Amino acid sequence: MNAELIAVGTELLLGDIANTDGQFISQRLSELGINVFYHTVVGDNPARLKAELERARSRSDLIITTGGLGPTYDDLTKETVAEVFGKKLVLDRESLERIEGYFARRGRVMTENNRKQALLPEGCEVFANDWGTAPGCAVTDGSTTLIMLPGPPSECQPMMTERVIPYLRRFSDGVILSRLVRVFGLGESAVEARLRSLMESSLNPSIAPYAKEGEVLLRVTAKASSREDCETLLAPAVDAIVAELGDAVYGVDVDSLEQVVLSELKKRGLTLATAESCSGGLLSKRLTDLPGASEVFPGGAVSYSNAVKTGLLGVPEETLRAHGAVSSETAAAMALGAARVFCADLGVSLTGIAGPGGGSEEKPVGTVWCGIACRGRVRTLRLDLGGPTRSRGLIRRLATSHALFELLSDIKNM
Ligand code: ATP
Ligand code: MG
Repeated sequence: MNAELIAVGTELLLGDIANTDGQFISQRLSELGINVFYHTVVGDNPARLKAELERARSRSDLIITTGGLGPTYDDLTKETVAEVFGKKLVLDRESLERIEGYFARRGRVMTENNRKQALLPEGCEVFANDWGTAPGCAVTDGSTTLIMLPGPPSECQPMMTERVIPYLRRFSDGVILSRLVRVFGLGESAVEARLRSLMESSLNPSIAPYAKEGEVLLRVTAKASSREDCETLLAPAVDAIVAELGDAVYGVDVDSLEQVVLSELKKRGLTLATAESCSGGLLSKRLTDLPGASEVFPGGAVSYSNAVKTGLLGVPEETLRAHGAVSSETAAAMALGAARVFCADLGVSLTGIAGPGGGSEEKPVGTVWCGIACRGRVRTLRLDLGGPTRSRGLIRRLATSHALFELLSDIKNM
């Protein structure tokens, strides 16, 4: 099944909003194994929308439109689709009742315009809108299916998940299941080079890499007649990837590095404290974004100035004078200090130059030292995160990701 998306809305063309509906729908379709070949954005203009619908119809099995289902005069998607597909718009009683109920529950007066939202192409499959007013729907004509979804992401996304995906599953003759293998510290091309023969020889499951800030995600997707058969296909492929990439694989079907760090700490009943300079608390934020962080994270210090590094964490003034704040020695003392001050099993520190200013030949922008203290012992490592396209924000985010990734091996060895 080949699909394409048409986003309707002048706001999108003006750049006022980004096409996040398109991103969301594409991700869901690829999880279903449906190929998406085109994304089109067209303004609220019936003639141009009509031309796009005709073009889409001539080349795709599945067309999904977003937007233009509202009650106002510029919302023309349904009328235009009905025209292109040669369908009449008829009143859908159930949708009308839902819309009336929506207004009644909110104590608002329903205008005549809103009735328009209950007009749907004859013979369509209706997707009830539990998140707003405009229903979505699917129209079939010959071998082409067209699905219309409302524009607001708060309606479009749940409707896609709860109505459209089950609807599309009916067309698929099997089950599609995927695993997400997360890799840190290797570039996309390095991962591809090491997995090339595996990727080329493996069609079911297929292996597709995606680069993400400092990470590579490998989506392994199997198609079979049952879930169990999919699992049977997936397991050896995932094992082969892990065998090839080793410790660079930090998790399968996990959300993030911090999630893995947290669960490994929990498993062992360990606690972790942070001492952050250049990352300004970002590492603590990432850890505490997750529910249940309090079990393993007693606290951390944003020790930005030398005075705080010394006064709070006990970094010797002599160390700072001799080696500077961005040094192995300071990172070590910060990590040990964090573990001591916050009474934690592990302490992790970051001190570096996030830029854009402050770099030198010896310590260019992007130089970051990370310290990891485990029950009195400490190790440090230098990260070189700089580069022409590396912003301050990116350097800080990457520094925290490296610290989390490094922590994993220390935790597992405890
Ligand atoms: P409404 O009933 O709110 O009028 P609609 O289905 O007619 O919904 P539009 O009028 O096209 O949709 O868009 C409504 C709002 O939804 C836009 O102002 C915009 O904020 C958001 N929106 C529309 N299309 C997209 C898109 N492709 N991606 C993200 N947001 C979108
Ligand atoms: Mg609208």
